[in-house]
Amino acid sequence: MASVRSETTLPFDAQRDQELKTAATALQDFVTKISPTVQGLDRKAFVTIRSANPRHIPDVRIRIKDIQALWSRIAFIVTDRQYPPGYGGSFDYGSTTSHIRYDTVNGWNAHPGGLGLIALHELLHSTKEGAKVWKKQWKDYRADCRKRGARDDEGKHYWTSPFFSEVEEFCYHGSRELNGLLGLPPYSGPAFAHGYEYGNLDE
Ligand SMILES: [Zn+2]
Repeated sequence: MASVRSETTLPFDAQRDQELKTAATALQDFVTKISPTVQGLDRKAFVTIRSANPRHIPDVRIRIKDIQALWSRIAFIVTDRQYPPGYGGSFDYGSTTSHIRYDTVNGWNAHPGGLGLIALHELLHSTKEGAKVWKKQWKDYRADCRKRGARDDEGKHYWTSPFFSEVEEFCYHGSRELNGLLGLPPYSGPAFAHGYEYGNLDE
């Protein structure tokens, strides 16, 4: 099953340390609770992430058995690392490691269904289909930069672009679908940036 650990990169601070522990415990409890349900899903089924504009961006179907395989090896690392604006963590496809900031975990967990939504969102980033969406959007972003004559080799402005939003929407959308398949309560909380309209490049 998925593993959860925490790391600190900043000098000790009692308050932050407490919040980091709270986040790691909540995430570990969630993982422990839903693992049997994940492994109990029909392995021949799919989770479908529908595009709002399938002529430009395809619907994506992910095999449940791939989700189960990924779930069994993904490593969540709750961290105090600092990220550029727009990012609450990072993921590495190769090692299926998902770093997630403690305040991202606690922020989502303040709302019913929020913890599941963000944990499964991270999982979606780490799927091979998630990697493909990310690669395509990054490539399209670079092409768009060239077209506009803008230079952004380091992707400094990528996170404010609709291309970045597409990747996030893909993951939220898939996360919501998975949430439903697992019988988890739907997220209810404030509306958030990057909704579910995967495939709508205008937003
Ligand atoms: Zn994301």
